Amino acid sequence: SAATCKCYECFGGVDCSQVINTCVIDLDHGDPTMFEDFWFRNGGNSITVILGYQRMSYFAQSKHVWFMESELDQQIRALHQVVGNAVTEGRHIVVGTGSTQLFQAVLYALSSPDQPKPTNIVSAAPFYSSYPSVTDYLRSALFKWAGDAAKFDPAAESAPYIEMVTSPNNPDGKIQHAIVNGTGHVVHDLAYYWPHFTPITEAADHDVMLFTLSKSTGHAGTRIGWAILKDEKVAKKMIKFLELQTIGVSHDSQVRATQILKAVVQGYASTASHELADHRSYNRQSSLQQLDTNKLFHFGSSVMQYRWKRLRSALNTSSELSILDFEPSYCTFFEKEVDHAPAFAWIRCKKVLDCQDLLKKNRIITRSGRHFGVGREYVRLSMLERNQKFEMMVDRLARIDSSRTPD
Ligand code: PMP
Repeated sequence: SAATCKCYECFGGVDCSQVINTCVIDLDHGDPTMFEDFWFRNGGNSITVILGYQRMSYFAQSKHVWFMESELDQQIRALHQVVGNAVTEGRHIVVGTGSTQLFQAVLYALSSPDQPKPTNIVSAAPFYSSYPSVTDYLRSALFKWAGDAAKFDPAAESAPYIEMVTSPNNPDGKIQHAIVNGTGHVVHDLAYYWPHFTPITEAADHDVMLFTLSKSTGHAGTRIGWAILKDEKVAKKMIKFLELQTIGVSHDSQVRATQILKAVVQGYASTASHELADHRSYNRQSSLQQLDTNKLFHFGSSVMQYRWKRLRSALNTSSELSILDFEPSYCTFFEKEVDHAPAFAWIRCKKVLDCQDLLKKNRIITRSGRHFGVGREYVRLSMLERNQKFEMMVDRLARIDSSRTPD
């Protein structure tokens, strides 16, 4: 009965197939539910079973990071080997409860308690909206948020700094490099450096790199992220932070993450490179069965390429909303030119000053540009929702007219 059926927002009826056109579409968060379709079709190889007596200890059998499952370490390295997006050979890997915890561990590890003033944390605007809030919520004496990296002058400061470089960027999808002209630490947040969002152009090889399961396989709820580090001292200080904050990371989550990554890696295990390049496109009509069902990045890229084409054509003639254009690049993973297909649409309102307000009146919840260090004429909205919600969103965006009261 309807009472026992819990439908996703915007859907109703006994079997949840009825679209509720008047509903509010929430696209504030980057919740990667788009990936459910892939894992639905790959249910068999992604099952995790943990018996009651297993993984009870605080400790894993790991030589390097006492709480890190060594099978997870191996699968992370295998995944980067398949994708070619990061160097892991000779690097230290530290697991965290999402990369959100690792971001805090990095701030702790790279700032010194002997410093008279807190370390300045900066990032080029528009920057990921969590950086300022996560940096400052405990009012640490070790570090403080210092805003837009473009406006930061290290020579005028008596305290050291850490620059966060998010590439591709959240919110606007651009490829980023460090911009502060100084000798501070640089942390690369590569949450979106995966073939479904952006062309892979090289194996990233920075001192500190952060990745997350949330945006690679879509398992945001498992809360697993990892840092790839050159310096063992930094790794050790981060481990110390994780010890103090949560005495390590859920072993149950690590086991699940290991199984999920194994399924991704195995999907590519028997694939010759010419097959990788044969990347069939996905559109509204074609069924997902036609796709290589066990190749995560082929699935993700097909969906994202379709969605961006659809969004661009819907906004092509819009007198209200505009989005950025990107030049395609050669992707070493797909072995061909690929368009950027960011996880978020970064929209500018051409006529109204408060873009979030305009979209809200049209029943679309977004995050305002002011959370990212820029103006209210911008909003960010997620491109990673389930299919029907995405289609509903685009239909609504295409019809927006600020001179009319929305129906
Ligand atoms: N970094 C960036 C740039 C992100 O967009 C996100 C997720 N929105 C994260 C880190 C955090 O990811 P998680 O904690 O889920 O691993």
